[in-house]
Amino acid sequence: MKEKILIHVCCGICAIKTIEFLRAEYQIVGYWYNPNIQPYAEYRMRVQTAGYVFQRSGEKIEWNLNYDVIDWLNLTLSVAKDKARRCAICYEMRLEAAAQFARNAGIKIFTTTMFSSIHQDIETIKKKGVSIAKKHNLQFLPLDLRQYQQETKNIALKWHLYRQRYCGCLFSELERENIK
Ligand code: SF4
Repeated sequence: MKEKILIHVCCGICAIKTIEFLRAEYQIVGYWYNPNIQPYAEYRMRVQTAGYVFQRSGEKIEWNLNYDVIDWLNLTLSVAKDKARRCAICYEMRLEAAAQFARNAGIKIFTTTMFSSIHQDIETIKKKGVSIAKKHNLQFLPLDLRQYQQETKNIALKWHLYRQRYCGCLFSELERENIK
């Protein structure tokens, strides 16, 4: 019997290759938690896409649909213009929730679909994941699936998936539009 792994899911498209890469070795349990996605209509679109990807893959996903956007803003607002610090807090909030879920579910190892994105700071995610895992007596699995970006994009087009134009938070949308 394969060992279970909890995959924190940031979006359905990033989950495609993560599932494919891990499914031979692990029994996959997805875990959705993203109070960083703004506005709420965008959040709902991404939930729907992640649901479709997991349904299509036949893998299980657990939904934490608490839209803790006020907590997220309280944590990040003071550093909103400092992308590196803001993202580090954002990674930590989501990985912490994933680790707590994994521990309570008796799953010993966890990772995140954020390792599929060329827009994320992989090294910071690794550091945060390892330190959170240590706190909860878990193991964090670092990955680097950025090389599959184009392939993933092609699959998303083929499956007619909704593709977001910015990372998630309002600040990332402003950055994309170059609004200072
Ligand atoms: S840019 Fe993305 S990772 Fe960074 S704070 Fe915004 S939602 Fe979080």
